Amino acid sequence: EIRKQVLIAIEESDLVLFMVEAGTGITDYDSEIADILRRCNKPVILAVNKVDTGDKMYDSYQFYSLGLGDPMSIAAATGSGTGDLLDKVVELLPKEAKGETDPYAGLPRITIVGKPNVGKSSLTNALLGEDRNIVTPVAGTTRDAISSHFNKFGHEFMIVDTAGLRKKSKVTEDLEFYSVMRSIKAIENSDVCILMIDATTGIEAQDMAIFNLIIRNRKGCVIVVNKWDLVEGKTANTMKEYIEAIQKRIAPFSDIPVIFTSVINKQRLMDVLEAASQVYTNYSRRISTSQLNDAMLPEIENYPPPAWKGKYIKIKYITQLPTKSPSFAFFCNLPQYIRDPYKRFLENKLRSHFDFKGCVLQIFLRQK
Ligand code: GDP
Repeated sequence: EIRKQVLIAIEESDLVLFMVEAGTGITDYDSEIADILRRCNKPVILAVNKVDTGDKMYDSYQFYSLGLGDPMSIAAATGSGTGDLLDKVVELLPKEAKGETDPYAGLPRITIVGKPNVGKSSLTNALLGEDRNIVTPVAGTTRDAISSHFNKFGHEFMIVDTAGLRKKSKVTEDLEFYSVMRSIKAIENSDVCILMIDATTGIEAQDMAIFNLIIRNRKGCVIVVNKWDLVEGKTANTMKEYIEAIQKRIAPFSDIPVIFTSVINKQRLMDVLEAASQVYTNYSRRISTSQLNDAMLPEIENYPPPAWKGKYIKIKYITQLPTKSPSFAFFCNLPQYIRDPYKRFLENKLRSHFDFKGCVLQIFLRQK
C-alpha cells in the first residue's frame, strides 16, 4: 500500500524531495525508494535531515551511495540549510511547472466541478463545442489533466477540463483516491469554480464536500443548478425557493451567484459565462487604501467594536493585502479583543460597498 501511494505521489509531482535521516543511516525503505526514484524520470533532490551539528555532516556523505547525486544537509527543526535547498528546488523545477512556457499564463482559469452525472462534460462540450482546442497539460498536475482555451462571445479564459479525468479514473482501482486528489488539484489550479448541482436532487452532502473544498481554497464560485428542464410544476417562485434552500445550506457564504440551466436545451449558458467572468473580476478586484478607508471608517464610527473590560478598541485604518484572493487587514490597538460577530459585520459592510459576489473574503485584525 505504501509503495502504491509513493508511486502515485511521484507521478503527480514535478520534482521529488527525498528526505532521509542523518542519525539512522540508510534503511531498507530508503534503498527501496531510491530504486524507484532513480527510474522515475523526475528531478530528485536528496535531503539529509537532522544535520544539526558539524560532526553529523560526515554522516550525510554515506547517502551518496543511493545514487541520487549530492545529498543536501538540512535541519528542519532549525531551518538550517533550507534556503540552499529551496534554491535547488527552484533551479531544478521543470519550466512548465514555473509557467515559463505557458502562452496562456495570466488568463482566468475556470473549472467545472460537481458530482458524477450532473452534466459537467455536457457543459464543457456545449461551451467548447467543435472548436475544442486542447492546449496545455496543466502545470503541476497529472498528464491527462488538460485545459482548453476558450475565446468566444467576448469572454476569454482557460477551462480546466476534468472530463478526461473521469474516464481515466474509471479504469483505476484507486478510484476514490484518484478522484478526490484530482478534484482537489483541479480546484487548486483554478481561479473560479463552477459548481454544478442537480436540480432534481437539490444540494446534497457530496455537493457540500466539493463546495467546502472551493471555499477552503478561497476560490471564486458560481453555483449552477442544472437539469432545470426536469423540474416539474415550476411556478414563478420556484427559483427563489431553490436559491433560499441553497443559501441556507452554504451559510454563511450566501453571496454566491446561482444560475439555473438546462445544458441539454442550451438554456442560460451565456449567463453562466457572464457570472463566471463577473466573479473573476470580483476575485481580482483591488481597492485602494483611500477608497477602503473612505468607505469603511464611517461605518466603523457608526458601529464601533464593543469595548472590552472598559478598554476602547479603535480601528485606525484598513488596507487590502496583496494576496490572490481578496483579503483585508484592519489595523487597531487591541486586535485580540475583536470577536467573530464584529468581523462578520466588517465583512458585510465590505460586501455592501464593493462587489465581491462569489468570493471568499479574509479579514485580519492587526496591531499597528
Ligand atoms: P458529468 O458526469 O457531470 O460529466 O455528466 P454528463 O455531462 O456526462 O451528463 C450526465 C447525463 O445527464 C447525460 O446523460 C446528459 O445527457 C444528462 N444531462 C446533462 N445536462 C442535462 C440537462 O440540462 N437536462 C437533462 N435532462 N439532462 C442533462
